[in-house]
Amino acid sequence: MTDNTSSAIETANIHLEVDGREHLLPIQFRLGEQPIAGLLSFAQQLTNELTTLSIQKVESEGKKISCQMGCGACCRQLVAISLVEAQDLARVVREMPPERQAVIRERFARGIAKLEAAGLLDAQEKKGNRDLIDTEPGSTESSIPRIAKNYFNQGVACPFLENESCGIYPDRPLVCREYHVTSPADRCAKIYQIGVDPVPVSRHIGEHLARTAHAVSGLPKQMIPLLMSLEWDQANPNAAREKHDGVELVRALVQEIGTGG
Ligand code: SF4
Repeated sequence: MTDNTSSAIETANIHLEVDGREHLLPIQFRLGEQPIAGLLSFAQQLTNELTTLSIQKVESEGKKISCQMGCGACCRQLVAISLVEAQDLARVVREMPPERQAVIRERFARGIAKLEAAGLLDAQEKKGNRDLIDTEPGSTESSIPRIAKNYFNQGVACPFLENESCGIYPDRPLVCREYHVTSPADRCAKIYQIGVDPVPVSRHIGEHLARTAHAVSGLPKQMIPLLMSLEWDQANPNAAREKHDGVELVRALVQEIGTGG
């Protein structure tokens, strides 16, 4: 977490209905004053629990998860994260040893340069709040799948990918925790030609976190590409640093999950 203030840990028993069944999920959180980033650990635990339930459901239907260590095809997809997570990834990079940090920052820069060269980012636009560009803006179809496909076609690996495995596994974004497939692993590299069978996700906690951060701290509720996280954090160094009560933060997120789409 961003704030290192020591304070007591409490457990919240979260009641959630998943696939028609009521579940009680004990999730730990930190008491006391903290910035919205303090909620990330709670969101990570909740995502882990919900992902386990999703996997158990597909396995109970006789399907098998194909994902395994050393298969990083999905880490070339457009990974959309909340700004709270972008802040945290910037923190993860800042806390790396200098040599490692230089390698990771260089990968971010090379990935962004590739997107700029492909016309998916405007190199002239002010850095920090740039959106990916839809290269067919007049099309009647939704632009998001097209942008995601164009992004994937660039073959830009996530800067944290090491030997086709996640190099920041304990800190990986919420959407990375959720994503699993039951289709053969070799289809993941051809996702836009032949498709994959993803494990259905009951709730995208990252999106709920983004909306909660907007309501509590005024952060924009947009999701951004992981590749833009350092750029965004550098342009917004003071965003959402004010502190809130830990119980109130958890309450706000749980309420959002209960009422959000
Ligand atoms: S953070 Fe890790 S799991 Fe997520 S895309 Fe990057 S390398 Fe893959």
